[in-house]
Amino acid sequence: MKEAITSVWNKRPLIISGPCSAETEEQVLSTASRLAATGKIDMLRAGIWKPRTKPGMFEGIGTEGLSWLKKAKEETGLPTTVEVATAKHVQDALKYEVDVLWIGARTTVNPFSVQEIADALRGVDIPVLVKNPINPDLELWSGAIERLEKVGLQNIGMIHRGFSSYGNTEYRNAPMWHLPIEMKRRYPDMLLICDPSHICGNRTLLQSVAQISIDLDFGGLMLESHIDPDNAWSDAKQQVTPERLNEIFESLIWRIENTSEQDFITALTRLREQINQVDDELLLLMGQRMKLADKIGEYKRDNNITILQTNRWNEILERAYKKGEQLGLSKEFIVRYFDAVHMESINHQNKIMNE
Ligand code: PEP
Ligand code: MN
Repeated sequence: MKEAITSVWNKRPLIISGPCSAETEEQVLSTASRLAATGKIDMLRAGIWKPRTKPGMFEGIGTEGLSWLKKAKEETGLPTTVEVATAKHVQDALKYEVDVLWIGARTTVNPFSVQEIADALRGVDIPVLVKNPINPDLELWSGAIERLEKVGLQNIGMIHRGFSSYGNTEYRNAPMWHLPIEMKRRYPDMLLICDPSHICGNRTLLQSVAQISIDLDFGGLMLESHIDPDNAWSDAKQQVTPERLNEIFESLIWRIENTSEQDFITALTRLREQINQVDDELLLLMGQRMKLADKIGEYKRDNNITILQTNRWNEILERAYKKGEQLGLSKEFIVRYFDAVHMESINHQNKIMNE
C-alpha cells in the first residue's frame, strides 16, 4: 500500500465524507475544501457511476468526474474513494489514482460482479471497502471478502449500510445491528465502518445512528455531504452540508473499547459474572421448557393432533407482550425471542411425533 494512504487507512476512527454523486467540478472541489476546513475528515468520497433502482435517474457523471476528484485531492490533500462495480470502473479509478475503492451494496449481492472486480484487482495493492449486500445475507458479504482475499488483496474493510426490506420503516435500510456485530466476530481485525446516510435515508436520524455505531466500537464512519443538499442529483434527502456534518461530529461521543483503570475493570468483571449466571439460568429454564414441549408432543401424537395451533401461539405472544412491556422489553425483542423458542419447540415436537 502506498505510504501516504497507509496512515489514513489505519487511522481510527476513519472518517469518510463527500457527495453521494460527483455532479460538477465546482461541486466536487467546493465540497472537498469545505470538508477539509472542518479538520475532521480523513478521506473524500464521491459516486462516479451510480447504480440507480429505476432507469432515467441520474446514473453518475462517469469517468470525467475522476479528474475532478484528482484535483480535489491535490487541493485539499484528502485521499479519495469511489464505488466500482465493473472491471472498467476499476481500471479507470486506478488510472486517475483513486486511493481506496469500495464495492456497493447492489454489487456485493452479485458474485459474478464481485469476481470481475477481484480479477481486475489481481496484483494491485489498493485498499477495498465492501458494503454489506442489500439483503441480510452474511455469507454473501463474507463471500465477497473472500474473493478479494483470494486475489491477494491485503487491505480490506467492511461498510455497514443497512439492509433493505419491503414497506416503510423508520429507516431507509434497517440497521439490523446484530449482523455487522457477527461480521466483527468473524473478522475481529478487519476495519468495519458505518454508513449512517444510507441506513437513515434522511437527515434527522444521522446523529443517533452514528452514535450507536460508535458505541458498538465501529472503526469509523462514511457520511454523505453536499454543498446544496436539497438540490443534490441523488440521495438529496439524506445529505447534509459540510458545516452541518461538522456539528454532527461535535455532538458525537467517542468511546474506547477498553481501559486499564482497575475499578472499572473490577466492576465490569462483576457485572459480566452476573450476566453469565443469568445466562446459565436462562439456558436451564429453556431446557425445562423443551422437556414440557416434549411432553405436549407425546400427548398430541397419542391423540392425533397437529403440532401447530395458531390460537395458542397468538395467546403466548399476547401474554409475552404484556409481561415484556412491564419489564422494559421491546416488542421486537419478544417477537425475535419467541420465534426462536417456538421453532425449537416445534422441532422437539416434530421429533417426538416421528419417533
Ligand atoms: C453510495 O454510497 O452512494 C451508494 C450507492 O451506497 P449503497 O451501495 O450502500 O446503496
Ligand atoms: Mn448515496
